[in-house]
Amino acid sequence: MKLKVCWMYHDIMDLYGDKGNMMVLTKRCKDRGIDIEIDTCAIGEKKDLSKFHLMFLGGGADKEQHMLIDDLLARKNNIQKAMDSNTFIFLVCGGYQLFGQYYIDANNEKIEGLKFFDYYTESGDNGKRCIGNIAIQCNLDGEEFMAVGFENHGGQTRNVATPFGKVIAGYGNNFEDKIEGFYNGKVLGTYMHGPLFPKNPKIADFVIYKSLTKEYPDLKFSDLLPLDDSLENKAKNQMLKRLHAI
Ligand code: GLN
Repeated sequence: MKLKVCWMYHDIMDLYGDKGNMMVLTKRCKDRGIDIEIDTCAIGEKKDLSKFHLMFLGGGADKEQHMLIDDLLARKNNIQKAMDSNTFIFLVCGGYQLFGQYYIDANNEKIEGLKFFDYYTESGDNGKRCIGNIAIQCNLDGEEFMAVGFENHGGQTRNVATPFGKVIAGYGNNFEDKIEGFYNGKVLGTYMHGPLFPKNPKIADFVIYKSLTKEYPDLKFSDLLPLDDSLENKAKNQMLKRLHAI
């Protein structure tokens, strides 16, 4: 099996070690004998995203979001084609915000989103930001489990009908709703940096599995060879305890 990944704007959208997600993906595929090829795509580069099994877009500050938005909007039809052909999409923070209706940044400037989904993001009052460690109870195609991460965003995302999880500790999409991220079976968006995959190997595996189903539709999550995650799970439980989430 081969997993083909396109890492979008790898050179500017990499806050708080989001690239660690790609490193974990590589290691967990190799340990299972799955070939993995990670291609990158910078502003202005020609790329057909529908040719990939997974598209990843990490987080970035307002400045980077402004830098890339014209390029991203120009790719809207191609991203739609990718989604329609079951390319899985994984988005973190600044990337997640740009798939919604719009983002009003810390200077009150509006960045139009791709408008694939109904959610929208506006900066918090008086520049207040959601910062710190976070624990959520997530639900991925019926699989419920706890996940941990780190968040740092001023943007308050609202109108999310299908969240990634329930917030147990921390903030999530905004200060009030107690829900985190977005998941609709094809696109996973989250505020969890940290990065997400090293802290939550089950989510890394879920993304590998979902992405592979584009080419191997009969594959089941349980078909992925189990790996030894005892160290990762120990670290995760430690963090959950410190957050009083278990
Ligand atoms: N600029 C956005 C915000 O502050 C996203 C930041 C991020 O990706 N961490 O909300």
